[in-house]
Amino acid sequence: MATVTLDNLRKEFDNGRIVAVDDVSMQVDDGEFITVVGPSGCGKSTTLRMLAGLETPTGGSIHIGDEDVTDVHARKRDVAMVFQNYALYPHKTVEQNMAFGLRMSTDLSKEARRERVRETAEMMGIEDLLDDKPDELSGGQKQRVALGRAIVREPDVFLFDEPLSNLDAKLRTTMRTEIQRLQNELGITAIYVTHDQEEAMTMGDRIAILDDGELQQLGAPKDVYNNPTNEFVGGFVGSPSMNFLDVAVEDSGNAVRLTQTEGPLDYQLSGDVAARVREADVSEFTLGIRPEDVEVVDGGPNAVETTVGVVEPIGSDNYLHLDVGTDFIARVDSDVEPASGDVIQITFDQSDLHLFDGVTGESLL
Ligand code: ATP
Repeated sequence: MATVTLDNLRKEFDNGRIVAVDDVSMQVDDGEFITVVGPSGCGKSTTLRMLAGLETPTGGSIHIGDEDVTDVHARKRDVAMVFQNYALYPHKTVEQNMAFGLRMSTDLSKEARRERVRETAEMMGIEDLLDDKPDELSGGQKQRVALGRAIVREPDVFLFDEPLSNLDAKLRTTMRTEIQRLQNELGITAIYVTHDQEEAMTMGDRIAILDDGELQQLGAPKDVYNNPTNEFVGGFVGSPSMNFLDVAVEDSGNAVRLTQTEGPLDYQLSGDVAARVREADVSEFTLGIRPEDVEVVDGGPNAVETTVGVVEPIGSDNYLHLDVGTDFIARVDSDVEPASGDVIQITFDQSDLHLFDGVTGESLL
């Protein structure tokens, strides 16, 4: 079983002045594809490098299956890592590059090694490149070779460190699908680091979001998207980003109202949502509204008046840049096309609202 278990995994640099990974715990199931995402410097690569054995943890443990590999040398771990810069040997041919890892990690005969390299090359569609050297290949081909070199070893666990960031947008999309196909076919356990939240959302069975060395949330992409555990996750996942407004809560006994501290929003909550907000023992609130949850209306309760700034058509939809006391983006159907400068009214369903503690950022709904 290639489960991977991180237990309070920690990495400090500079005698503890930098905490790159701050007691991260998570379990990756056998055959699961986990994406790890977060802003630059959040500790993604350091986590992955500890899993690969390229960095020694300051604390905590790593298990692969039942085996504690925390102190096991990189070469003795049954993991393969695919890097952003491909890390191919420039003077070796594609075939030699792919066979090299195999020679180091198995005792197959030369003929059997050749056969396995050929099979893998066919699976990756690079069988015609076997005699080429890396500098004769395009970026996409190099990344296929790097993937093939990892796959040919049949490791228990695959680690990917931003493997597609050097490819152009179109190729990146193709390679994403390719990696997902391979992962499904081979049933591999994979941990995939990226700074691209869209990549993380589309590829992961589950997505782990890191910030400042700490694991913020681990869950299925849809769950994380719909129920972000805090303001950071709400803002990090989704594009364009969630809109945030500072609000005060006014409880008049019958109703609970959210009134924007510096802007026009005045929203009356009802039922369950009102009850939960009433119970929250919090002094400052931040309201979160996703651009796609905004509706343009013609008056009605809870309508907010706003002035249209830039209108950005993206084909299927329009992005409306609005002034709601602060910059605010609405994603609406392409047939909703107000002109810049128009005053319009917008609203949102209360079931789509996110409300966070304005101080800690924790989700309250
Ligand atoms: P990026 O997306 O920019 O690669 P990351 O999320 O992968 O970022 P890490 O590379 O893991 O982040 O770095 C986490 C933190 O640890 C950063 O503050 C970084 O400066 C620091 N760090 C990483 N490696 C070292 C090192 N060898 N010595 C000192 N500090 C380090």
